[in-house]
Amino acid sequence: MTTTITHWVNNKAYPGTSSNTAPVTNPATGAVSGEVALANVEDARAVIDAASAAFPAWRDTSLAKRTAILFRFRELLEARKPELAAIITAEHGKVLSDALGEISRGQEVAEFACGIPHLLKGGYTENASTKVDVHSVRQPLGPVGIISPFNFPAMVPMWFFPVAIAAGNTVVLKPSEKDPTAAIWLAELWKEAGLPDGVFNVLQGDKTAVDELLTNKAVKSISFVGSTPIAEYVYSTGTAAGKRVQALGGAKNHAIILPDADLDLAADAMVNAGFGSAGERCMAISVAVAVGDVADDLVDKIAERAKTIKTGDGTRNSDMGPLVTKVHRDKVASYVDAGEQAGATVVLDGRTVDPDGAADGFWLGPTLFDNVTPDMSIYTDEIFGPVLSVVRVDSYDEALELINSNPYGNGTAIFTNDGGAARRFQNEVEVGMVGINVPIPVPMAYYSFGGWKASLFGDTHAHGTEGVHFFTRAKAITTRWLDPSHGGLNLGFPQNA
Ligand code: NAD
Repeated sequence: MTTTITHWVNNKAYPGTSSNTAPVTNPATGAVSGEVALANVEDARAVIDAASAAFPAWRDTSLAKRTAILFRFRELLEARKPELAAIITAEHGKVLSDALGEISRGQEVAEFACGIPHLLKGGYTENASTKVDVHSVRQPLGPVGIISPFNFPAMVPMWFFPVAIAAGNTVVLKPSEKDPTAAIWLAELWKEAGLPDGVFNVLQGDKTAVDELLTNKAVKSISFVGSTPIAEYVYSTGTAAGKRVQALGGAKNHAIILPDADLDLAADAMVNAGFGSAGERCMAISVAVAVGDVADDLVDKIAERAKTIKTGDGTRNSDMGPLVTKVHRDKVASYVDAGEQAGATVVLDGRTVDPDGAADGFWLGPTLFDNVTPDMSIYTDEIFGPVLSVVRVDSYDEALELINSNPYGNGTAIFTNDGGAARRFQNEVEVGMVGINVPIPVPMAYYSFGGWKASLFGDTHAHGTEGVHFFTRAKAITTRWLDPSHGGLNLGFPQNA
């Protein structure tokens, strides 16, 4: 049976007026499980209008009341996250434990946002000039747009909306059309937590919906996460329309393994970070850079471990699920073909996988390539699948040069027991998030998440204090309480006395 997945406006499902829909599939079976509404411009405007109408009252709702709702949202999420994990697995394909993991990381941002009263505190200066005081406040922007990718249908929206809502904004979330149901589940949870109508809304759709969010004057900011070409488009279009934009893009994450590294730890990390979530993570490691004579041992150890990965239906006892769509599965498989043709050594071939799942699932097992060179498409392109490339280099400097000359700069890691080398790496590498003997260095909610170079357009990262700054604007207020007779004309520029 297929279901219809609609928009969500004013705490209710909203069918919209467009008759366009897109199929939603279960990647583990290949079956179409639903049809998601694709908004036309009028539908998008109706959702944005609801967020605009709700803004004045929500902005003026006390911090005590706002945070009480946030705490309830957090408690409900904690209690009911298995339901959400099942939805994620059914539409995205990742295994249930991984789906629960992404919810927990999103929940941490809701917990961070529960502390919003402290985060919004401004400064106060008494007697800045004689009997003149100055103070600062941070105020919400208005309705804000969030556009999210398929690979984290719960966590990525939660990087943004708890902070946005806590700060007094209203939200329009445009989820990926590939796995749109998680957003509706989260909207229902907000309703149950007591969030007023119109504060959190969901707009389902494709480019039409995105373009309306980017150009509609009522929408004050855009938080986008997705591939680099779309991130660039979103950034240029949104900023040209006068909006604040943070657009997080694609990645090609390298890990350097130095000769003194603990190779068992490094091999575990390469397998976990290369093949977890079938490589469909923006923080996945897709290139292991083996320095000096570690390469042979490292490749053996990675292969030994990767062979034990059980590829299969995420609701069973599998380690790795299917890819999100058939089109994406075939694209990733074509990269494996291209790598083989280009002369890389196929150590483990995911094309021959025997999955624990339905015949029509979008299966591809872990693939390990050795002797990859920087001119091969498996190296140059973001594959976004379970394909790990080993590049052999002679020195740390060569490894660093490889990373720093890559257009992306999302995440990276170094494996070593040499504190000096690690310290040099954290200082020299041109990447936004760095792990030292840690493969997927996703920062905690109270730090900020974001890459450098082609992995992020805009200057503000997600969540943490940067997130609070993004969703608020500063106001400085200068005050004098004096007998008006002390005034008098003075056309000169105000000076302190
Ligand atoms: P995508 O760019 O295809 O889609 C992202 C969003 O943009 C979706 O909501 C989609 O509906 C919308 N969109 C797609 N085409 C559009 C168009 N032509 N015009 C306007 N909007 C459009 O990305 P995806 O395939 O859903 O997600 C995977 C990508 O996201 C990878 O490149 C991955 O690295 C990246 N990603 C980055 C981060 C990060 O933090 N930097 C996190 C997660 C995912």
